Amino acid sequence: MSSVPKTMKAARLTRHTVPVPEYGDNDLLLKVGAAGFCHTDYQVYEGVYQSKLPLTPSHEPKVGQRVGMLNLKHACNSCGGCRNYREGDPPNMRFCENKEMAGVQHDGGFAEYVVADAGSSSLLPDGLSSEQAAPMMCAGVIGVIEKDLPVAVIGVGGLGQRPSKGRDLAQEVGPENLRADKVINYNNKDATEQVIKFGGDAGGVAGVCVPLGLPPDGFKFGAIDLVFKERVIRGSLVATKPLTDEMFKLVDKHGVRSHLTTIGFKDVPKLPEVYMNEHLKCRLVLKM
Ligand SMILES: [Zn+2]
Ligand SMILES: [Zn+2]
Repeated sequence: MSSVPKTMKAARLTRHTVPVPEYGDNDLLLKVGAAGFCHTDYQVYEGVYQSKLPLTPSHEPKVGQRVGMLNLKHACNSCGGCRNYREGDPPNMRFCENKEMAGVQHDGGFAEYVVADAGSSSLLPDGLSSEQAAPMMCAGVIGVIEKDLPVAVIGVGGLGQRPSKGRDLAQEVGPENLRADKVINYNNKDATEQVIKFGGDAGGVAGVCVPLGLPPDGFKFGAIDLVFKERVIRGSLVATKPLTDEMFKLVDKHGVRSHLTTIGFKDVPKLPEVYMNEHLKCRLVLKM
């Protein structure tokens, strides 16, 4: 019997009716209008974060009455992370060691109601639909650049979409929809030179690389370029509320919209499978 594994897959009948979440002084109880399915949700499903299951997924909800929430809430305001924010930034909850993360360790937005923290929720522009706003609360806001500098984005699609398909997606979506000044095929031998040339002064020296994936084996960087060109490798975790407010101003001004597929509540169990389908070319959003 030694070949019999300790665990197995099994189908279980279950009915998920859970209590409406309790909320505190600085919380908002939101009725969910739409919520996105992110790569993080797929990783939760796969057990990457060892989340306690069952758990309500999604940290990208957008609510009927003009509010979107980030997936960070309930900072303790006393730990090292809370005290150690960058100079010039308002205190923010991103680095709190005791914060809650919707859909990762705590229930998220695939539900009728979700609790949001007023400190990480933003009002939405009028012309933006619930479905469009949902993925902007994670993938969208992560991509907001604070300064007017040339930017090279490796891969295409909402952050969290499968980057290996990025080139096909870029061709299909078309440069005019991406609104990029230049599209470079990274399989070209001179792709790096093209990027550096396009970036001008900022391309070659002292550039900042912001890797956002979470590969289990980490990243590898060339030491010579790092030291001799003073290049910077910088992490980035979601966003602050002020940056989110800033993003919505830009979204409103430039009419930024994403490629989406909306699904209904009854199709939620199929999401991990649909998400991993190689033909998927858009962000998946649950519309309540
Ligand atoms: Zn996300
Ligand atoms: Zn804290």
